[in-house]
Amino acid sequence: MSQEFSTPMMKQYLGIKQKYPDCLLFYRMGDFYELFLDDALVGAKILGITLTSRSKGKDGRIPMAGVPYHAVDSYLTKLVKAGYKVAICEQLSPPNKKGLVDRDVVRIITPGTIMDEKALETKENNYIVSITKKDSKIGIAFADISTGEFVVDQQDVPDPLLVLHQLIEHYRPVECLLSSSLYEDSEFIKELRKHPTMHITHISSWMSQVRQAHKTLTSHFGLHTLESFEIHSLLFAQEAAAVLLTYLSDTQKGNISHIRRITRISHGDHVILDRATQINLELFSTIREHDQRGSVLSILDRTDTAMGGRMLKRWMMEPLCDHDAICERLDSVEELLLHQKNKKLINSHLERIHDVERMLSRLSVGIGNARDLVNLMNALQEISEIALISDTCTSSLLKNLFPIETREHVQSVISEIRTSILPEPKITLKEGGIICDGVHPRLDTLRELLSTGEEWLKKFETAQREQTNINSLKVRFNSVFGYYIEITNANIHRAPSGYIRKQTLINGERFITAELKAHEEKILTAQEEIYRIEYDLYQQTLEKVLSETSHMQSVAQTIGVLDCLCSFATNATEYSYCKPKILFSNELRIQDGRHPVVEKLLTDTPFVPNSVTLDPIKQQLLIITGPNMAGKSVFVRQVALLVLLAHIGSFVPARSAHIGVVDRIFVRSGASDMITSGLSTFMVEMVETAAILHNATEKSLVIMDEIGRGTSTYDGISIAWAVASYLAINEASHAKTLFATHYHELQELAELFPTRIQNYHMEVIEEKDGPRFVHTLLQGKSTSSFGIAVAKRAGVPEKVIEIATQKLQELEKDRDYSADEKTHQLKQDDPKLNALKTELLSLHLSTMTPLQALNTLAALQERMKQ
Ligand code: ATP
Repeated sequence: MSQEFSTPMMKQYLGIKQKYPDCLLFYRMGDFYELFLDDALVGAKILGITLTSRSKGKDGRIPMAGVPYHAVDSYLTKLVKAGYKVAICEQLSPPNKKGLVDRDVVRIITPGTIMDEKALETKENNYIVSITKKDSKIGIAFADISTGEFVVDQQDVPDPLLVLHQLIEHYRPVECLLSSSLYEDSEFIKELRKHPTMHITHISSWMSQVRQAHKTLTSHFGLHTLESFEIHSLLFAQEAAAVLLTYLSDTQKGNISHIRRITRISHGDHVILDRATQINLELFSTIREHDQRGSVLSILDRTDTAMGGRMLKRWMMEPLCDHDAICERLDSVEELLLHQKNKKLINSHLERIHDVERMLSRLSVGIGNARDLVNLMNALQEISEIALISDTCTSSLLKNLFPIETREHVQSVISEIRTSILPEPKITLKEGGIICDGVHPRLDTLRELLSTGEEWLKKFETAQREQTNINSLKVRFNSVFGYYIEITNANIHRAPSGYIRKQTLINGERFITAELKAHEEKILTAQEEIYRIEYDLYQQTLEKVLSETSHMQSVAQTIGVLDCLCSFATNATEYSYCKPKILFSNELRIQDGRHPVVEKLLTDTPFVPNSVTLDPIKQQLLIITGPNMAGKSVFVRQVALLVLLAHIGSFVPARSAHIGVVDRIFVRSGASDMITSGLSTFMVEMVETAAILHNATEKSLVIMDEIGRGTSTYDGISIAWAVASYLAINEASHAKTLFATHYHELQELAELFPTRIQNYHMEVIEEKDGPRFVHTLLQGKSTSSFGIAVAKRAGVPEKVIEIATQKLQELEKDRDYSADEKTHQLKQDDPKLNALKTELLSLHLSTMTPLQALNTLAALQERMKQ
C-alpha cells in the first residue's frame, strides 16, 4: 500500500492495515465497521453494500463501505465463506475522548477460525488443518477452535498422500496451513485442490516457528515435556501442531486457553469407512441432491443437544471395532429403552442444555458475555440433575458417566456463577447490569448512591415545580446533555434567572443549574466506577470459570455420549429396531432387515424386509441378480448400514441380527463420478475396486453394486467376474461380500466356487401388464431383466420401446444360437476339456498366492478359448 494520507484517522488506518495486508480491515467507527480503499471495493462487491467515499482535505476521495456493528456476524460469514480473512479493528478508548480514538485489531477471522454462532452449523465441527511433509513422512494437526478439539498425527508410509487424503476426507477441514515449500510445490497443491472447499493459507514464518515448536507447545499447555500427549517423539506432528497453535493464537490475540490437550489420532480402534463408502451409503448427505435431508444421519439423529449431534456424526465416521465397547453402548441403549421414565427425564434436561463447548470457546477467545456464563450455569445445573438419574442406572456406561470429581467441578462452577452473575445480565460488558448485589461492598455503596440519587432527583423536581409554579416542569437525562430541566414555551417566562439555557426545542427549552450539574457529576462518576467494578468482577468470575475449562469440556463430551445413546433408544422404540447380538466370529446373520432410510421414505407401499447370512467359510460371497427396480441396491446397502449401526452401538432395523465385528466396510457402486479429482467414472470405479482388493480382510464387509457397469459389456463382465473370483479365492481376505450385478454370467461362479459363492436374486412376478417387483430376496439364479419394461413405466416414448424390444429379440436370438453352439461343443467328450478339468481339480488353492491363482485361472481360460 503506497498511499499517504494527511488526516490522523487515515494515517492510523493505514498504520494498522499495513500490519494485516492479507486481511480486509473492518475499522470500527461508532456504530459501524468501515472498509476503506481496495477493501471497500471488495466488500461492496461481495457483500452487496453501497460503495461511498470519504472526502477529507488533501486526501481526496477515499472509497469507503460500511456495515452496522450489530449485524456484523452475517457479513463476516459471507466474506469468510468467499475465502477472505477479516481483521476486526475496535475502538479501544472511549469515543468521547478528545482527539483520535485508540484502535487496534482484536481478532482475525478466517474460514478455520470463525466462531460466530451464525457462521457455524450447530451440529458440525469446523476444522482447520496444518500439514508438514518430507519424503515419506507427514505430520498433520487438526483443530476446531469453536469446541477446543486438537488432534495430531504423524506417519511414515510409502504413500503419504493417500494418508493425507484420507485424513482430510475424514475431518473435512475448511482451511489448511502450509509452509512456503509446500505452498510452492505445484504437484502438492494440485493434490490439495482435490478438496475444493478447503482454503489454503500460506504461513511465511513456518521455518522460524518450527525451531520453537517444542517450546510453543510446552508453554501453551504448561508442561515440561509432551510425553503425556504421547507425541514427544513425533517431531513432524509437533511441527504441524505448533504452527497451528500459533496461527490460532495470532488470530485470537492469544485467547486460546480453551485448547487444553492434544490427542493423537488413533488408528485401528475404529471400523474404517472410506469416503466412497460414506458417500455411497449416503451417510451424511444424499448423492443426488447433496442434501442432508434423506441421509442416514437425518433419520438417526434424534439428539437434543449440539454436542450430541456432533458426537453422533463422529460415531458414524468412527464406528467401534471393540466387541466389549460396542456391547457396552448397546446395553445402555437397552436400559434407556426399558426405563422410559428415566429416559424421558433425561431428554427433558438435555433439551434445555445449550452448546457448552461453544460457549466455553466463545468465553475463552473473548467474544462471550455474561449471558453465556448464565447459560453455562443453567446447562451445568441440568447436568447435575442428569447425574442424579445416572446414579440409578445399572448398565456400566450409564452409571459411570459422571465421576465424583467431575461433579465437584460442576458444582464449583455453578456456585461461582450463581453468586456473582445476575440471572438476566446485560449482553454488553462495560455498561453494568451484570453483577449481583452483595458481591463487592464498594459496588453496593455506589448502587445505593445511585438509587438515592434517583430519589434526590424526584425531590429536586418537586422543589423546582414549587419554586417556579410550573406543574409541567420535568427533570430528565440524556446521554448528550446529561441532566436537564425542561420547561414548555407557555411557561418559559417563569424560568428563574439562575437557570442556564442548554437547548431550544420546538415547544420548549432545556436548562441546567449548578446544583443539578454537581449532582450529575456525582452520579456519573459513581456510574463509571460501577461499570468498571462490574467489568472487573465479571473478568474475575470468567477467569475462575475458565480455569475449569477442561473439566467442563469433558462434561460436554459426556453429554454428547448420553444424548447419542438416548437418540438410539428413541429410534429403537419409535422405529422398532432390535438389539443386535455382537459376535466374536466373522459371521453375519440378519433376519428381516430393513433399510433405515428407504423404509421411512416409502409412503404408499410397505417396506419388504429381507434376511441374509454371510459366513467366510460357507457362504462368503452372494451374487445378487434381479431386474432393474427389483431392490438390489437397497438390499446390499441395507446390510452395510445394519452392520454400521450395530458398530456405533445403535439398535438396528431388523427382526434379529447377529453381527461379527468387522474391521472395514467397503461400499462401491459402478456409477459414481469424481469429476473434480480429474478421474472418469470408470477410472473412479477401478481405483475404488483396487483399494478393496488390496485392503479387504476376512473381517471386512464388501458391498459391490454393479461393478464393471462403466465400460463395454464384455470388459465389464470380465472385470466383475475376475473381481468376484479374486474375493472368493484370495485366502488373505475372504471378505464377506455382497455382489449385486446385472451380469447374469456371474451366476456361473457359484458352480466354480460352490463352497464360497451362492446365487441369490430379487423376486419379480411376471404379470399380464408387466413385471411386479416384490423386493424379496430368494436363493437361486434370475433369468430376466425387464429393463425395457422399466423404461416403459418411466415414460420413455412408445416408439423407442418398440425399437428396443425388436433389438432385444435380435440380440437374444444371436445369444441363444451361440450358447447352443457352445453347449453342443461342451457335450462332446472333449479330451481338452477333460485335461483342463483334471488340472483344475488338482490345484492347491490354499498354498497359492492370490496372484498365482489369478494367473492360473487366466491361463486355463485362455486354453479353454483355443
Ligand atoms: P437398478 O438395477 O435399476 O439399479 P435395483 O434392483 O438396484 O435397480 P433399487 O434401486 O434397489 O433397485 O430399488 C428400486 C426401488 O424399489 C427403490 O427406490 C424402492 O422404492 C423400492 N424398493 C427397493 N427395495 C425395497 C423393499 N425391500 N421394500 C419395498 N420397496 C423397495
